[in-house]
Amino acid sequence: MQKYDYLIVGSGLFGAAFAYFAKRKGKRCLVIDKRPHLGGNVYCEQIEGINVHKYGAHIFHTNNKKVWDFVNSIVPFNRYTNSPVANYKGKLYNLPFNMNTFYQMWGVRTPDEAKAKIEEQKAEALAKMKAEGAAEPRNLEEQAKLLIGNDIYETLIKGYTEKQWGRKCTELPAFIIKRLPVRFVFDNNYFNDSYQGIPIGGYNRLIDGLLDGVETKVDTDFFASYRDTWRSVADKLVYTGAIDEYFGFSLGKLDWRTVSFKTRIEDMPNFQGNAVVNYTEREVPYTRVIEHKHFEMFGQAVYDCPRTVISEEYSAEYKEGMEPYYPVNDDRNNSLADAYRALAQKDTDVIFGGRLGQYKYYDMAPVIEQVMTMWGMI
Ligand code: FAD
Ligand code: UDP
Repeated sequence: MQKYDYLIVGSGLFGAAFAYFAKRKGKRCLVIDKRPHLGGNVYCEQIEGINVHKYGAHIFHTNNKKVWDFVNSIVPFNRYTNSPVANYKGKLYNLPFNMNTFYQMWGVRTPDEAKAKIEEQKAEALAKMKAEGAAEPRNLEEQAKLLIGNDIYETLIKGYTEKQWGRKCTELPAFIIKRLPVRFVFDNNYFNDSYQGIPIGGYNRLIDGLLDGVETKVDTDFFASYRDTWRSVADKLVYTGAIDEYFGFSLGKLDWRTVSFKTRIEDMPNFQGNAVVNYTEREVPYTRVIEHKHFEMFGQAVYDCPRTVISEEYSAEYKEGMEPYYPVNDDRNNSLADAYRALAQKDTDVIFGGRLGQYKYYDMAPVIEQVMTMWGMI
């Protein structure tokens, strides 16, 4: 008999949740991670008594009550509601696009006034497209102008999007912008989901709870340690690293988008008054500034903690050795990923999971939901 039922490569949410349910079914697991810590991208580092989201701001949100109840059974979540503010040339606007934004942009006070303003600008965009013989929006710029009009496009979308994607809005696909909510109510909640929040005490508590009683090894790269020998220690492999790397890049390399962070401590309790401020003009080099304490400290607690930690977020072109963050959604990468997924299906002893293992953009809740489904919990 093998020592383990499962060798799990990667201690992110997929690997950790998988180990949790496996253990409850009496399975023996070993979780390895090449990083010096557990938790994958939700890992937080404590600085000045603040949980700093080391790999980017993470807000848990879901409509699935079973997923919400499950994560809350591991660690209770707080009432954090994501309501980013946009800074364009020093003037502030609420996001997502809602009555507050329309008031700040045009001084309109009622939904009818706001709708009339947007309709007027949409009509201009539509007329221009028709004159050019286009029936459907051909790119992100046209789509955005049809959705919300020129003023908001120029102020809140163009610069941010071009920084984030490193390409002009006229060269980006229309679908990227389709999911942005447009609301004719005074509601700054970025998400439409019924449940959202941050684990009280930080994400490390969620990971620690999921991995409680599970054997783990950090600083352990699968390719340097178990690649050739894993079948002698475990019956099955759960692999949440990059799918192309597993196959030795035999079909070619997948592209990734990445972000980098410049983090600093400010000697004041409250730097920007909000967890997330987007900088929507092209000239500011970063896309947004995160003030980590606001994810978990509210009211007086903000001031009880005398300092604050700030991260500027920069979009970057992925190069060898950087963290692969986001799959690139274009034809070349989609068909290459399909080819790797076909290879992956051939080995029934290996489960490919998570955003790197499946080359799909997953938020946290869908990752938990997938694992719960695999173990018959949903
Ligand atoms: P990961 O967390 O990436 O874990 C994979 C693990 O595998 C890593 O720890 C890695 O070190 C390890 N690994 C890889 N290769 C090897 C190897 N060869 N050997 C050993 N270990 C290996 N989701 C939300 O719901 N809300 C948000 O606000 C949100 N914000 C995000 C912001 C950013 C910048 C990013 C990048 C993602 C965000 N997400 C958000 C998505 C969220 O991070 C993912 O859904 C989640 O981390 C997926 O977990 P995972 O286990 O698949 O991957
Ligand atoms: N977006 C924008 N201005 C903003 C925030 C978002 O133009 O202030 C656009 C941008 O094109 C981005 C898309 O909306 O890619 C989706 O934004 P979201 O915050 O949902 O994406 P994420 O940053 O999580 O990838």
